[in-house]
Amino acid sequence: MKLFTCQHCDQVLYFENVRCEKCGHRLGYLAETNVLSALEPAADAKDATPGQPGVWQALAARGKLFRFCANAAYHACNWLIPADAAESYCIACRHNRTVPDLTPADNVFAWRKLEMAKHRLFYTCSSCACHWPIVSTRRRMGWFSTSSPRRRRRPCPR
Ligand SMILES: [Zn+2]
Ligand SMILES: [Zn+2]
Repeated sequence: MKLFTCQHCDQVLYFENVRCEKCGHRLGYLAETNVLSALEPAADAKDATPGQPGVWQALAARGKLFRFCANAAYHACNWLIPADAAESYCIACRHNRTVPDLTPADNVFAWRKLEMAKHRLFYTCSSCACHWPIVSTRRRMGWFSTSSPRRRRRPCPR
């Protein structure tokens, strides 16, 4: 797992960090570019719509606006999605088929640990080019086409 650097103060950051220990900036992970980015409220961005709650400008992707995955509300995810995305979940959380009953506090704690491991899996798969373990909705529903060409995959170097 690589280390990241705060774009605001150069502090070393870890994959699961949600706030920079040195400058206090909120942090979010950009899956498309594999970058943990310092964030500033979109109200400070010149192209932001005033009063848009929960919208952030990433210092690692200036000019674009983001919001957190819905699972950030449970402190189970620090990944970002485009502010105008139709989805509520990031590319990793979008593949959850079952989430435990989050009423008991023990379940929330255990689920966070599971989510941490899953996000590391997605990070590792994207880093080694063996592709994310994505099962399409069509296949999950049992009506995938057998005539579609198989995707050619490069072997995982690990
Ligand atoms: Zn910082
Ligand atoms: Zn997520």
